[in-house]
Amino acid sequence: MNILIMGGPGAGKGTMSARIVDQFQVNHISTGDIFRSEISGGTKLGLEAKAYIEQGLLVPDAITNHMVKHYLEQLKDPKNGFLLDGYPRTLDQAKAFDELSKGTDLEIDIVIAMEIPFDVLAGRISGRRLCKECGEIYHIVSHPSLKEGTCDKCGGLLYQRKDDTIESLQTRLKEYTAQTEPVLKFYEEKGIVTYINANQSMDDVWQDVKKALETK
Ligand SMILES: [Zn+2]
Repeated sequence: MNILIMGGPGAGKGTMSARIVDQFQVNHISTGDIFRSEISGGTKLGLEAKAYIEQGLLVPDAITNHMVKHYLEQLKDPKNGFLLDGYPRTLDQAKAFDELSKGTDLEIDIVIAMEIPFDVLAGRISGRRLCKECGEIYHIVSHPSLKEGTCDKCGGLLYQRKDDTIESLQTRLKEYTAQTEPVLKFYEEKGIVTYINANQSMDDVWQDVKKALETK
């Protein structure tokens, strides 16, 4: 089974990805990993991508698409399929990957789209605090430290990440929605999107995700 997971900032995509990989024994495919692997492997595509990155340019979709396909084809252990995370990110990428994978065992079978209302997301993100020393993550409401501003684990100072603000979230979410709405629509027309209510406890979200994948 080949899965694509989508979710905006703060939707809990990272946690669900880890659980999916563990439960369903699929390869976790993130574009960051692919870029690193192709570049360090010195493949033709990897070298092309590297040239763009070194000039501070975005790697063109055409290269990214072929790199993803190449990476998937040469996976040593195909396991039970893969979980795509962070790709396809745009409608162009989705269409291109669809073309590249049509009729092969690389076709995407199901899209898990994690949804969460903006005000909930805003609360989750703007309440987040991190430890300067050990990186432990707290939340002022749902997971506060025992002593305000101090890490329980190491006594380090807690701080708020610069982009963990409502304004920054609004910007990121707007960008995310503008990019992904057409992608979701594209997969909706194929009838393979399952929307997951991410505004629940992590365990409840997981039950929904698991059920969606098990019944696929
Ligand atoms: Zn700490």
